[in-house]
Amino acid sequence: MSNPIGANGPYNDFPLAEVRQALDERLAEGFMFWQKFTCAGCGQRLTVEQPNTLYATANCDNCDAVTDIAAQGCNYLLLKTDI
Ligand SMILES: [Zn+2]
Repeated sequence: MSNPIGANGPYNDFPLAEVRQALDERLAEGFMFWQKFTCAGCGQRLTVEQPNTLYATANCDNCDAVTDIAAQGCNYLLLKTDI
């Protein structure tokens, strides 16, 4: 890996394939999710607007950098929907 340990700061990110598998199960349980990642340009923690969608790359609102989420990994925010 080219990223040194701690490149994503205090955040825990996981491989995209692993996240996708985990979220398939959460969706089946009635959760919504929003993908979260750390901008490769400015280091800001970002959450995508579109729920229940995973992106392999994403733009930053602050610095316009494109982050390679497939290479860098991501995390997610969960919300239980069936109340
Ligand atoms: Zn940025």
